Amino acid sequence: MHGVKNLNSSGDYISNSKYVKNSFIATASEHCKYCMWLIVGGNKDCYDYTQFGENGQRVYEAMTCGKNIDSVINGITVVESQRVHNSMFCFNNSDLFGCVSLRKKQYCILNKQYTKEEYEELVPKIIEHMNKMPYTDKKGRIYKYGEFFPTEISQFNYNETSAQEFFPMTKSEAEAHGYSWKEPKEKNYKITLKSQDLPDSILDVKDDITSQIIECEHKGQCNEQCATAFRIIPQELQFYKSQNLPIPRLCPNCRHYQRVRNRNPNKLFLRNCAKCNKEIETSYAPDRPEIVYCEQCYQQEVM
Ligand SMILES: [Zn+2]
Ligand SMILES: [Zn+2]
Ligand SMILES: [Zn+2]
Repeated sequence: MHGVKNLNSSGDYISNSKYVKNSFIATASEHCKYCMWLIVGGNKDCYDYTQFGENGQRVYEAMTCGKNIDSVINGITVVESQRVHNSMFCFNNSDLFGCVSLRKKQYCILNKQYTKEEYEELVPKIIEHMNKMPYTDKKGRIYKYGEFFPTEISQFNYNETSAQEFFPMTKSEAEAHGYSWKEPKEKNYKITLKSQDLPDSILDVKDDITSQIIECEHKGQCNEQCATAFRIIPQELQFYKSQNLPIPRLCPNCRHYQRVRNRNPNKLFLRNCAKCNKEIETSYAPDRPEIVYCEQCYQQEVM
């Protein structure tokens, strides 16, 4: 794994953490599992939490939540708040249930104000109802209280979210899971330079390249939101020249996907230490060429 100063942690790109399990990109966190992009530290006792941290405590099934939050269950963009359930875009609140875009509120259900007593009486009833009559999606997946919002009501299609970057699927794979798919828009750019005609060396590139419409090598055939064509701006050309780098052959979207692919996948594989044969979890797939040691053997080797 890529990581420093961790205790009893698994996943990848983790630092200064203890007991962080099966998590990817996390810093200064403890007792967390299935978390991703906890890029600001101070997080404790979190589970199924994606982005961004900064003193997130007892956060469950949440995304883009953080900054001094406590007991957030099923949240999207809940910031500086406590005891918030099933809510989105709420800042500086406490005790919310099913609310959207509230600021500095307490004891609200579906954005309606209640007294403390009313709130405390109603919430357990709603939770009981959600568990007795849960939302069931087209694929039969059941969403009881605490589950994250169903994918099928997302306003975004699978292939236009970062899910496609980390867990790439083809259209048919996504549809088999019940996820929607965005068809590429017809672009019809008037390509003036084919990708195969790009010179290999920057020294052979003429300044008029900034007026060319360059074809992306993937020609819209990949699942990477390919723009099919792109341009080079003068500042960019200047940069490539100063660094002696060739002109890219892919559009910016496709380039982004290739960069993401340089990271290990957000997935753990079981394999054996190349030295002592102990079973280990690693994001280096067993068919990759790298030699992977367990932590102990690695320490002995490099110290
Ligand atoms: Zn492309
Ligand atoms: Zn592509
Ligand atoms: Zn070993």
